[in-house]
Amino acid sequence: MAGTMKDVREVILSGTASGADYSALPLPESMRAVTTHKDDEKMFEGLESRDKDPRRSLHLEEVAVPEVGANEALVAVMASSINFNTVWSAIFEPISTFRFLERAAKLSPWDQRHNLPYHVLGSDAAGVILRTGPGVTAFKPGDEVTVHCNYVDLQAPEGHDDSMLDPDQRIWGFETNFGGLADIALVRANQLMPKPAHLSWEEAASMPLVNSTAYRMLVSHNGSPVKQGDIVLIWGAVGGLGGFALQYALNAGAFPICMVSSEEKGRLCETIGARWVIDRSAEEYRFWNEDGSQDVREMRRFGKKIRELTGGEDPDVVFEHPGRQTFAASVFVTRPGGQIITCASTSGYNHEYDNRYLWMQKKRIIGSHFANYREAWEANRLVCKRAIHPLLSETYPLAEAGEAAYQVHHNRQIGKIGVLCLAPEEGLGVRDEEGRARHIGQINLYRNAAKGRFGLVKTEP
Ligand code: NAP
Repeated sequence: MAGTMKDVREVILSGTASGADYSALPLPESMRAVTTHKDDEKMFEGLESRDKDPRRSLHLEEVAVPEVGANEALVAVMASSINFNTVWSAIFEPISTFRFLERAAKLSPWDQRHNLPYHVLGSDAAGVILRTGPGVTAFKPGDEVTVHCNYVDLQAPEGHDDSMLDPDQRIWGFETNFGGLADIALVRANQLMPKPAHLSWEEAASMPLVNSTAYRMLVSHNGSPVKQGDIVLIWGAVGGLGGFALQYALNAGAFPICMVSSEEKGRLCETIGARWVIDRSAEEYRFWNEDGSQDVREMRRFGKKIRELTGGEDPDVVFEHPGRQTFAASVFVTRPGGQIITCASTSGYNHEYDNRYLWMQKKRIIGSHFANYREAWEANRLVCKRAIHPLLSETYPLAEAGEAAYQVHHNRQIGKIGVLCLAPEEGLGVRDEEGRARHIGQINLYRNAAKGRFGLVKTEP
């Protein structure tokens, strides 16, 4: 007999159910999910990116609960979060994610499950395992988990040094179906990680994607690991990625230079512990001229500002993701021998920069993409150890995921926006109250900052 989602939610909220109780709990046949529709792929044709509205393309609907396969798990999602990839999916840029689902389906008849006329989005989740498929040994029903989004089977030799190099590596909930913006998600067992006990469902769910990405970029040997004393220029320093980059730079004893677009965001960087902030809006940098050429004088002005702050030094590492609008300036200001680590191109992926500033000064550009399981696990472990903290500023109900994505699309959020799925309200799921109490100031920092939009409410350090 099929179960109901109400029963699933009640068992989780009771907090007393055993693994056996979860295994015996009948699964519902359908679930709520935030989807895009294949039929809508061309709905925004001819519009500028900023006019493509996720509130029109994201639907909340009832869809079938997927079947669980070998080495997979079904997770009851208590909370998820909005990542920029949900925005890309919702505006069908740079390509429709239905192309990814078609490609994923070619792997095997079993992977055909992903190829549907709807795409359940979402690349973050925190929740409870309901079912595991054959072959899952490290986790079991009833375990409270967070989910990272590296979806990889590892049957190709190329991925065995670093699973991000596997030819069939995908981002779950973006390049696969059945993501986290739903009541139940389908994941591979090697995406599971223990949920940090001192965090609520929505706090825990707001971290894995951006935290793991920033970890690989600034801590892992696969990125540009920073060390004590390094100067690290961080674009969007209190955005999703940047807010974690800032914490990793500070934890390493490096000196971050925080790029932000408002005074309030700058104050938040200082509250977190940064000495140096540049408000790009107040400085009105224009690296591109109207005629499509670039303005090297503006890059010099930017470099001069950096040197004023640092006492004449240039960045050892630049943490890049805005892309086309900033990339040439990032290359320009990096110190000779320094590195530009990039994982994205929000403002355009056709970068142009003067290569003389790269080769003559022996700088390096390093590409980075999400994180392998080990890196995601280490990033999650640092959260469990309370050395890295969430950036959650606001939480929306699942039904308003479109509005939440709209906010992120228009850079109106600070840090991360959480989404409640099965969790009926914020603040649930905390198992370690004592650990939480010790870090409550850091945990609530972004939330308080957003409350004043962004007139910071003072928190304990
Ligand atoms: P986010 O939360 O929106 O933060 C990005 C921040 O960058 C914004 O808060 C903004 O800060 C700054 N910014 C935006 N446009 C800019 C521009 N044109 N020039 C300078 N600064 C700009 O997004 P996110 O989660 O950090 O993601 C950022 C990008 O990385 C997205 O394109 C996303 O898809 C990509 N990403 C890639 C990976 C990967 O594994 N490859 C993983 C995560 C994210 P201010 O306005 O305060 O300056």
